[in-house]
Amino acid sequence: GRNGGGTVSIEIKNLSHIYSAGTPFESDALVDVSMTIPDGAFVGVIGHTGSGKSTLMQHLNGLIKPTGGTIVVDGEDLTAEKADMKRIRRKVGLVFQYPEYQLFEETVKKDIAFGPANLGLSPDEVEARVREAVRLAGIADEWLEKSPFELSGGQKRRVAIAGVIAMQPSVLILDEPAAGLDPIGREEMLKLVSGIHAEGHTTVVMVSHSLDDVGRLCDTLFVLDHGRLAMQGTPSEVFRRAAELRKMGLDVPAGAPLAERLRREGWDMPEGIYRMEDVEAAIRQNLKK
Ligand code: ADP
Ligand code: MG
Repeated sequence: GRNGGGTVSIEIKNLSHIYSAGTPFESDALVDVSMTIPDGAFVGVIGHTGSGKSTLMQHLNGLIKPTGGTIVVDGEDLTAEKADMKRIRRKVGLVFQYPEYQLFEETVKKDIAFGPANLGLSPDEVEARVREAVRLAGIADEWLEKSPFELSGGQKRRVAIAGVIAMQPSVLILDEPAAGLDPIGREEMLKLVSGIHAEGHTTVVMVSHSLDDVGRLCDTLFVLDHGRLAMQGTPSEVFRRAAELRKMGLDVPAGAPLAERLRREGWDMPEGIYRMEDVEAAIRQNLKK
């Protein structure tokens, strides 16, 4: 993280998770998932509701234990008996889905400072971390002394994210950070997340069910389907497999099928484009010829 620890990679091998094993509620949430999240990457994890995204994210900072398989974070196996969970949670920050429901302090500032204050840092250091997190999360100074409950949903969510950023994790995991926000709120939230990644110190893993969003922001995508890793690759590699994605209940960004259709009709369309802007540019090129 910003402590000079640098970014870290995560290596997941044959990860499985069964909820309520041996009961009538038994559910195979993750089945033999192997993946590598490289240092400094901006990773998108996508999949239909119930595909295992949240379960996978909660494994990455040791919040839940796998039924089988291993997860190695920065050389440390967090499934090992002697794993130092405190250190791992400091390295891997997890922002839950709807994190605004977990705010509890009487002021915004206290909420953001809660984590760092519990690391045993000096008051000056805690203050510095709060300031940095507030800046990154786009929080206005006048919110700091307010009760979190006076803020809007989107503002509260920023506060919750700031609380995790203030721990200065090397890996930041966000589970559907834009879920339930209005279009402007979504846009701002995605800008915030890409801003955090662009600062260059943090590996970011973002769960989303919007292929448009991850396509615009992420460099690597992992697609989950019924608890299994169904695809991985760059957005253009993944979006090329539109028919398979649709079978998993996922909507391919509108540019991909449009480019495909134009190509079939004889237009000269570059392979693997999916952004509307890129399709538009290709159409203009064709018209010029
Ligand atoms: P996603 O985040 O992709 O929607 P989840 O990881 O929440 O998927 O869920 C994966 C599967 O595990 C689903 O079938 C879900 O019903 C089940 N599941 C999730 N959490 C629990 C739980 N605490 N107890 C039992 N089953 C669960
Ligand atoms: Mg989920």
